[in-house]
Formats: sequence, structure tokens, C-alpha cells
Amino acid sequence: MPKKSKLKGKIAHKDIFQLLTETTKKEKQKRREELLAPLDVKEFFVEGKITINKRTCKGIECKLCIKACPTSALFWKTGEVGLTEELCIYCGACVLSCIVDDCIRIERKRSNGEIESFGKPKDFMVLQHWINVRKRFQRIKDVFPKPEDYLRRYKKWEESRE
Ligand code: SF4
Ligand code: SF4
Repeated sequence: MPKKSKLKGKIAHKDIFQLLTETTKKEKQKRREELLAPLDVKEFFVEGKITINKRTCKGIECKLCIKACPTSALFWKTGEVGLTEELCIYCGACVLSCIVDDCIRIERKRSNGEIESFGKPKDFMVLQHWINVRKRFQRIKDVFPKPEDYLRRYKKWEESRE
């Protein structure tokens, strides 16, 4: 009997923990929506993570990432780059402008589950290139008929000639 109640306690503890995590997530999301609403920026990623390596950052010498950030998620605070993570939309503009490879690293997740991660301008540009190629390919696919549609049309045309 005591074993059962111990197990019950464990499950309840797990549920409470899960509940707390979910509530924190929801609260974070709400705060994020409130902060981003006046900025009128579009979010393309469902989740993300950004890190700044303070040891390799050239800080005061450049601050280029701060200038490039469209949401002011990055700011200057007492001798180093600060970050308001709720304002970050994981766009990559800061990585693209950073003079130190892997100083800023971004990992982001798209709604289809795809995960992208990069820390160098070159990696970001390669990634962007393939995103554009994929978009172009999709546009072409949308405009031109599929082989089976083409065959159907051809068959109809053949029939009309008989
Ligand atoms: S990823 Fe975009 S929004 Fe986030 S800190 Fe960098 S520039 Fe700002
Ligand atoms: S652009 Fe890179 S090196 Fe320059 S301040 Fe930002 S993180 Fe540091």
C-alpha cells in the first residue's frame, strides 16, 4: 500500500512540474507577443535560441549587431552586449553583421519542425540561398502542371482530335 501512495506522489509531482513548465512557457509567449506587437514584425519561427559568446565578442569596438537588430533585442549594457530574449525573432541579422565567427549562435525551429542553426555570416548566407532556391522551386511547381495533369490534358486533346 505505501508503495502505491509513493508512486501516486511521484506522478502528482511530475504533473505539477509539467504544469509549471507549461505555465512559464505560456507566460513567456504572452510577454513576447505583448512586446513584439507594437514593432509590427513577422515571426517565422516557432522556437529559437540565441547565445552570445562574451569572451570572443569585440564589444565596444564594433556594436554592429546592436545596430542591425530590427527589434532592439540587443543593447549595450555596462561594457557588454545585452539581450532581451523575448524580443528576439531569430532573424539572423546580428550573425550576418558580426565580425567574429560563432560569437553569436542561433538555433531556430520552423513550424514544419525543421531546425536551422548557424553562427557565421557564410553559413547564414548559404542557408538563405537554399531557402530561396526552395521557394523558387515551389513557385515553379505551383505554376506548371504536374506530369499526370499534363498527360490527362494531352489525352483529352488526343480524344478531341478523333
Ligand atoms: S536574431 Fe534578429 S532579432 Fe534576434 S538579436 Fe539577432 S538581429 Fe536581433
Ligand atoms: S557584432 Fe559581434 S563582435 Fe561586435 S559587438 Fe556584436 S557580438 Fe560583439
